[in-house]
Amino acid sequence: MKSVLITGGAGFLGSHLADRLLGEGARVTCLDDLSTGSAANLAHLANEPRFELIEADVATPIALDVDTIFNLACPASPVHYQHDPIKTMRTSVLGAINMLDLAEKNGAVILQASTSEVYGDPHVHPQTEGYWGNVNTVGERSCYDEGKRAAETLFADYRRHRGVRTKLVRIFNTYGPRMLPSDGRVVSNFIVQALSGQDLTIYGEGMQTRSFCYVDDLIEAMVRMMRTADFAGPVNIGNPFEFNMLELAQKVLAFTGSTSQIVYRPLPSDDPRQRKPDISLAKERLGWEPRIGLDEGLKRTIADFKTRLNT
Ligand code: NAD
Ligand code: UDP
Repeated sequence: MKSVLITGGAGFLGSHLADRLLGEGARVTCLDDLSTGSAANLAHLANEPRFELIEADVATPIALDVDTIFNLACPASPVHYQHDPIKTMRTSVLGAINMLDLAEKNGAVILQASTSEVYGDPHVHPQTEGYWGNVNTVGERSCYDEGKRAAETLFADYRRHRGVRTKLVRIFNTYGPRMLPSDGRVVSNFIVQALSGQDLTIYGEGMQTRSFCYVDDLIEAMVRMMRTADFAGPVNIGNPFEFNMLELAQKVLAFTGSTSQIVYRPLPSDDPRQRKPDISLAKERLGWEPRIGLDEGLKRTIADFKTRLNT
C-alpha cells in the first residue's frame, strides 16, 4: 500500500482509514463528493504532503495512478441513502464499475465496503457469509441493499473474468467519533438527543437488535484484509455482542447523565429485526476480533460529540 485511493474518504470510516494509512507512510488520495462526508473530517491533514482530497462523484470515471483502492463511497445512513435512492444505486453500481476498471488498468488491489444489509431481514442468525439473505427488491432500503449486492456481484465477476484482485468485506453497524450529528443513525441520534436535552427516539418498540463495532476495530480489520494475500472474502466484520435499541438508549442516558425521556416512533419499513455477525471466518483468516466493547466505545464517542457540539 504505497499509493492508496479511498473513495468516500471524507466520510466517517474513510477519514479514519486515511489517518491510519498516512500514519503507516502511504500516499493517500480521498475522492469524495462531500454529500454525507465533510472536509472537516480531513481538515487536520491540510498540511500533509502525502495527502490529497479530490472532490468528485465516484459514478464518473476518473484516471489516477494508484496501487490500492478502498471503495467506500456511498451514503450509509438509511435517512441519507433513501433521500436520493437513484443516486444511491448509481453510486454503488457505477462507482463499483469505475473503480474496478481503474483497478484493472493499474493492476491495483481493490476492496469493497459491503454491508450486513446484503443479508436483509435475515432468517439465519447469527449471519454467516454462506447465507444468501432475505432482501426486498422494491422497498425503501432496496436502493442501498441491492446496490451493494450488485457491487458484490461486479467484484466477483471482475475477479473471475478479468483477474482483478478484489476483496469484499461485509461491514456490520459501526460507530465512533466523526459520525455526522445529522447522520440519522441510531448511535449518533441518541447521543445528540441526550446531550441536547431532546427526547430519545426509539423506532418501534426498541426490541430490534443490532451489534455495533467501534471504528478502530473496524479499520484494523479492513487493513488486515487488504494485507492478506489470496483471500477475496466476502468476510463479515463486526462485533458479535448483540443488544436491543431500548438497551442502547438506556446506556446512552446513563453515560451522558442526561435527563431526556425515551419516546417511541413508527418502525421504518423493512427494518431488520435482528442482526449479529458470525465472525469465525475473520478470526480464522485475518486473526482479527474486536477489542473495544460497547461501554468503552460509547464513552469515547460521547466525548467526541461533546467536543463537537460544545456541550
Ligand atoms: P459516510 O456517509 O460517513 O461516508 C460515505 C462517504 O461517501 C461520504 O463522505 C460521502 O460524501 C461519500 N459519497 C457518497 N456518495 C458519493 C459519490 N457518488 N461519489 C463520491 N463520494 C460519495 O458513511 P460511512 O459510515 O463512513 O460508510 C462508508 C462505507 O462503509 C459506505 O460504503 C457504507 O455503505 C459502508 N458501511 C458502513 C457501515 C457503518 O456502520 N458505518 C456499515 C456497513 C457498510
Ligand atoms: N433507530 C431508532 N432510533 C433512531 C434511529 C434508528 O430506534 O433514532 C433504530 C432503527 O430503526 C434500527 C436501528 O435503530 O432498527 C439501527 O438503525 P441505524 O439507522 O443506525 O442502522 P441500520 O438500520 O442500517 O442497521
